[in-house]
Amino acid sequence: MNVSIADNLAQVHAQIQAACQAAGRAESSVRLLAVSKTWGADAVRAAHAAGQTAFGENYIQEAVDKITALHDLPLEWHCIGPIQSNKTRMVAEHFDWVHSIDRLKIAQRLSEQRPASLPPLQVCIQVNVDGGETKSGVIPQDLPALAQAVAALPNMQLRGIMTIPEPAESEAAARAVHRQGRLLLESLIAQGLALDTLSMGMSADMAPAIAEGSTMVRVGTAIFGRR
Ligand SMILES: *Cc1c(COP(=O)(O)O)cnc(C)c1O
Repeated sequence: MNVSIADNLAQVHAQIQAACQAAGRAESSVRLLAVSKTWGADAVRAAHAAGQTAFGENYIQEAVDKITALHDLPLEWHCIGPIQSNKTRMVAEHFDWVHSIDRLKIAQRLSEQRPASLPPLQVCIQVNVDGGETKSGVIPQDLPALAQAVAALPNMQLRGIMTIPEPAESEAAARAVHRQGRLLLESLIAQGLALDTLSMGMSADMAPAIAEGSTMVRVGTAIFGRR
């Protein structure tokens, strides 16, 4: 199993490299976040042994157990799942990044609860780019105000936005929705925010996301297998 995680990681890196090359981008401009939700600490150790350092988790309690069990490794942990108010303290105390901010109240709690002994929490705002009605994420119209408010909070640094579009029917359709993500990030930058992160693209749509400027792809299945 460890061999296959290493092989899978090598294949994902090759896909990222090919997508970067096709887009005329440097491979170093795209970070790989390994999404380890539902997988155990052993799988994370295997990925780390193969050179992976950044991991994404959706379920807070599961993640904190894993983070604690893996404290001996120099890993970077990203929260990419929905956050209820009663879980903000765990997130503030254990994670390095949060991609899934979609309400000011949650951002305020994370800011207040971030321990002074830790560096500022690195955060992205999750945007509902394709208007799925039941989905998390702020609607594009509400993004500028939320971004300005989050950027003003202490103990956290706003880095950019995160999107999770519905699976697209074609590469062209995937690119069209990822383009919305890029344009939203660019409009925030034009409003004076210093942002550098477009968290966009998963196992099935890494290439179109990279073609549209993703700087961080979040990949689970292609590294660890089917959940
Ligand atoms: C599960 C998940 C991923 C990874 O999805 P795969 O299709 O397994 O690569 C990425 N981002 C978020 C927010 C997720 O919940």
